[in-house]
Amino acid sequence: MHPSRPRQPVRTWALYPLLLVASLSGSWALQWLGLASGPSVSLAILLPALVIQVIERRWPHHRSWRPNRRTWVVDLSHSLLSSAAVPSLLHAATIGALHAGTERLLTWGLALWPSDAPLGLQLLGALLVAEFGTYWAHRTYHELLPLWPIHAVHHSAEKMHSLAAGRTHPINIATTFFVSTAPLVLLGAPIETIALLNVFTGVNGLLQHANIDMRLGPLAWVFAGPDLHHYHHSRLLAESNANYGSNLIVWDVVFGTRHAPQGQRPSAAIGLNEASLPDHFWLHLGLPFTYKRNTSRYRRSTITPPPPNPATTKPGTSWPDPPTQTPRKPVTVS
Ligand SMILES: [Zn+2]
Repeated sequence: MHPSRPRQPVRTWALYPLLLVASLSGSWALQWLGLASGPSVSLAILLPALVIQVIERRWPHHRSWRPNRRTWVVDLSHSLLSSAAVPSLLHAATIGALHAGTERLLTWGLALWPSDAPLGLQLLGALLVAEFGTYWAHRTYHELLPLWPIHAVHHSAEKMHSLAAGRTHPINIATTFFVSTAPLVLLGAPIETIALLNVFTGVNGLLQHANIDMRLGPLAWVFAGPDLHHYHHSRLLAESNANYGSNLIVWDVVFGTRHAPQGQRPSAAIGLNEASLPDHFWLHLGLPFTYKRNTSRYRRSTITPPPPNPATTKPGTSWPDPPTQTPRKPVTVS
């Protein structure tokens, strides 16, 4: 082993695959035992969430990412009231119409979902289909500036921790539902497959935002893991306009937006390039309509990253401090 490269704890490389496999297996087992898909999905996300919370507190990757009580409560509120509630409500409100659409597609021979295939293969297919939709929706939010204020809520997090996964505007959540879950239901994907996809999305979201040092090795060419997503939350536009995948990174590879420089790690300086917004639930909900006013009020004139943390910064494993950068081009919001 290289003398300047200390041994990594087991959790660094084992936690990511272990929690994903355990949560998927647990969800499948609970459904096999007769529990409804809704509670089994909730349990299969909740238990890993608790494990991640414990590890984040005990062994944080960056001490500067530890959320204070306000940040934690705001992100929990987003997680429960937006990220968990909105897809459930949308599913309940649209399932009748979606199933009617499936029946129509069946008569046209277009409900092509391979429902008889092994569940693992169906999950893989569901991931590829859903990720194609979320990739382009996510990329559009970044590149079509009038839409940016909706997605800016997610990027306003300046402390990366697992609950920051839920800091997403309800309009953003609804978009994701209509480009990922809805097409799968229309194609005829069974509830068991959708349930596994929801577990994967929930647990992967917690892991990729977690304040835990995790390395994926070659898996980082397939899955959108923590390092790739931490780059996506960078204050530097060249880094944040990349790695759009939620679960898989394969569409970023295909369309040339994967960003993972060899031998480097993401900076701890995350957040909006243009402003430093306070942690305030109602401000975040109103941001699509008040973006111009609030980003002027809380404008970030220069990018000043927090000082490196000697406890977690190892030679050759961190980005150099990001340079000063001009703020994001102002967006016209009516
Ligand atoms: Zn984004």
